[in-house]
Amino acid sequence: MTTIFDRILAKEIPANVAYEDDKVLAFHDISPQAPIHVLVIPKTKWLRFADFVQADPIAIGEYMSSVAKVAKHLNLDENGYRIVFNNGRDGQQTVDYIHAHILGGRRLNWPPG
Ligand code: 5GP
Repeated sequence: MTTIFDRILAKEIPANVAYEDDKVLAFHDISPQAPIHVLVIPKTKWLRFADFVQADPIAIGEYMSSVAKVAKHLNLDENGYRIVFNNGRDGQQTVDYIHAHILGGRRLNWPPG
């Protein structure tokens, strides 16, 4: 199924791109929940976090490394940040294209709701 993120990746609809390389695209969330709220998607699609059970561990590792690279690129390393993967219905995943939320720029609350 084609999602809004497939269309952003294909440049069919615009996004405020924060970072792009051959493996990932990172763009600012349209409804930010923190001063910095960036979504990181792999250019090779997985639907959800649960797909990692059967995915190539090297590809997963490259994706995780890219998420860390984007956070560094956003100058979040010093003060820290939170990575969120919403997965499935109860996780409130609304887009069926895996995406890491990078949240930072303020002290975040814990526990989440
Ligand atoms: P989820 O709830 O699936 O974990 O997160 C989806 C995220 O995508 C939400 O935070 C939502 O605000 C964001 N989002 C949905 N549609 C768009 C869009 O068209 N552009 C951008 N930049 N973000 C979007």
